[in-house]
This record gives sequence, C-alpha cells and structure tokens, in this order.
Amino acid sequence: MTEKTTEMQDIFKAAQELACPVDRSKYVIKRFLAGPMCGKCFPCSFGSYESMMRLREIASALGSDEDLAALRQVGRMMVSMSRCKKGKDVGAFLIEMLDESAFREHVEGLCGQMQCVAFYEYRNVPENCVKCGKCQDACREGAIIGEKQVSIKCCHMAFEIRQKRCNKCGECIKVCSNNAIIKVNIETTAGVPV
Ligand code: SF4
Ligand code: SF4
Ligand code: SF4
Repeated sequence: MTEKTTEMQDIFKAAQELACPVDRSKYVIKRFLAGPMCGKCFPCSFGSYESMMRLREIASALGSDEDLAALRQVGRMMVSMSRCKKGKDVGAFLIEMLDESAFREHVEGLCGQMQCVAFYEYRNVPENCVKCGKCQDACREGAIIGEKQVSIKCCHMAFEIRQKRCNKCGECIKVCSNNAIIKVNIETTAGVPV
C-alpha cells in the first residue's frame, strides 16, 4: 500500500464522521485539493475545483438543480477520464454522495443534520429562560440581548439572540442548563431566511 493511497483512505475515513453528505463531500474535496490532487490531468483537477465551487453553493443554501447536474457530470468525468485511481475514487465518491436525498433537500432549503450553517440558527425559548445571563457571558459576538434577573420584584428584559450578529459558534447552547436555547432549521430561499 503506497503512502498516497493511505492518505486517501484517511480522508475518506475521517469524512465518515460528518453526518451531512454535503458537508462530507466538501471535506473530501477540500482535503483532496490540499494534498493528493497533483494537477497532472485535466479531468481530475478541473473536476475537483468545479465540484468544490458547486458544493459551496449548495452548502450556502444557494444551490440549484443545475449544481446537482453539474456535480454528477463532474463525478462521471472523473471516474472515466482521470489518469489515476485517486481521481477515479473521488469521482465515484461524489456520485455515491449525490444519490443521497440530502443533496436534493439542500437545494430545496433543508440541511436535515443541521450541519451547514446557512440552514440553521440558535433561538431563545422564553418560557424556559431563567434570565441567568450565562449565555450572554459566553457569547463573544455580543449577539444576545437581555437583562440578568437580579430580583424577582423587577421586570427584566427577556433574552433574545440577534441573528445578524450571531456566528453560530454554539457556545451559548453549551452553557444553558435550562434548555432555553435551541438549534432550529430555518427555511431558506437563496441563502436568506424567510
Ligand atoms: S487523477 Fe491522479 S494524476 Fe490526475 S490530477 Fe488527479 S491525482 Fe493527479
Ligand atoms: S443561559 Fe439559558 S436560562 Fe440563562 S439567560 Fe441564557 S437562555 Fe436564559
Ligand atoms: S451561537 Fe455563538 S455567536 Fe450566536 S448567540 Fe450563541 S454564543 Fe453568540
């Protein structure tokens, strides 16, 4: 077994840890482009760059049927025309991923695994929130507004996540012990929540 073959096997193995097929595909192509892809033949080099561009569109909620068709075409071209096994294996991997319903779902506005950031957001659940302020302290973006409860006699401003400031790092959900922050799918149209 050559060192390069092992490198490809490592890439495919690590990708299996990612639940979302779109995210998984992006991971494989990104690592392939960063190392094993040598650029000596056109079908593989062009196919890899083209597929990365299409995958980024799909993961950003900007994907279309055209992107799906182009990816399938690229996958077939890489399988049939790449000079070595590495390009052929990546092409076959792409075709296999495209057969998963997740690709179509992304084009229609859903990342079922909530891994692609364009498809989900964090929201506050007011009825569960005790206004402890832990989430606010954890947020480095200043994306959470609200007033800590210092006295039960006062009215305190409810906690709320400002989506425009939120980078979706997930730190707030980790520190909230009251299930008062949830991760939810958002319906998207051309990358914009509706
Ligand atoms: S198929 Fe093989 S030879 Fe061709 S660019 Fe890819 S890695 Fe290089
Ligand atoms: S950590 Fe949870 S309970 Fe505390 S203020 Fe934030 S959302 Fe509310
Ligand atoms: S996900 Fe990160 S940036 Fe967004 S509100 Fe929570 S801590 Fe702040």
